[in-house]
Amino acid sequence: MIDLHTHTNESDGTCAPLELIDRAMAIGLEALAICDHDTFAGYDQAAPAAKSAGLDLVCGIELSTRLSAERTRDVHLLGYFLHRPPAREFCDWLGGLQAGRRDRNRRLVARLQARGVEIELEEVERMGRSLTGRPHFARVLVHKGYAANSEEAFQKYLDESAPSFVERHAPPVTEGIRRVAEGGGLPVLAHPIRLGIRDPAAEEALIGELRDAGLRGLEAYHSDHRPWDAERYAAVARKLGLAVTGGSDFHGSAKPRISLGTGFDGNLSVPLSVLDELRKL
Ligand code: AMP
Ligand code: FE
Ligand code: FE
Ligand code: ZN
Repeated sequence: MIDLHTHTNESDGTCAPLELIDRAMAIGLEALAICDHDTFAGYDQAAPAAKSAGLDLVCGIELSTRLSAERTRDVHLLGYFLHRPPAREFCDWLGGLQAGRRDRNRRLVARLQARGVEIELEEVERMGRSLTGRPHFARVLVHKGYAANSEEAFQKYLDESAPSFVERHAPPVTEGIRRVAEGGGLPVLAHPIRLGIRDPAAEEALIGELRDAGLRGLEAYHSDHRPWDAERYAAVARKLGLAVTGGSDFHGSAKPRISLGTGFDGNLSVPLSVLDELRKL
């Protein structure tokens, strides 16, 4: 069993990179990919420990993009096997995304303060390490009693539907695909179910468009996918000539029902052959 989609506390997970390696060894994972949002810090810390433990650790990243300038739906793009250290152009581009995130965070704090919430950017940033995201805002809001739990914090303050929601600059997914490929990596569409496209034909057409833009893989196996979704996505991948990937999207106690390797209440088991196929590309 392998897990090609996990987060550490360098982004919005709660497990330190070394702890994640320990856990992967403890449950006997044959390979692990760290795919933190917008940062390689977790992977870089974990790499030496993985090497001495004999664990096959894959370098990944998860990027937030939009379908297009007009279609603003969030699209999460995974990049695997990017050059380490990354190419200068990729680093600069990533730096721009990180700056956009900080700008969003400043505006979000202002909006929350305008709603009477006592919150400072510094205390939110203290919750995170390399990156500060809305999950860290949720932790502060829960800690201070503004919400009972993270879900409620998102609903009341952070979600698209909340009055204090602020947009973040995110590049079009086609730009993300191009940047990952130019950085030597393999661009993969994360958890396609979250595109929220109900009509399977429309969904396949969109994934086809992304394939034409350079997408190389589809995350068919994911904690959010029911068995029939996973089967559908594996079939779409085969039809479109995309590689299949899979992982739990483990975030530690930030998403307590998702377990490393085995997913949401045990709904996942990704075989090593998936990684072997990916490496052939
Ligand atoms: P950000 O990248 O800072 O905008 O934060 C996005 C992250 O927030 C996602 O990757 C999810 O992990 C988390 N998230 C988004 N919506 C929700 C929600 N309704 N409840 C809990 N977590 C969420
Ligand atoms: Fe996340
Ligand atoms: Fe994601
Ligand atoms: Zn993820």
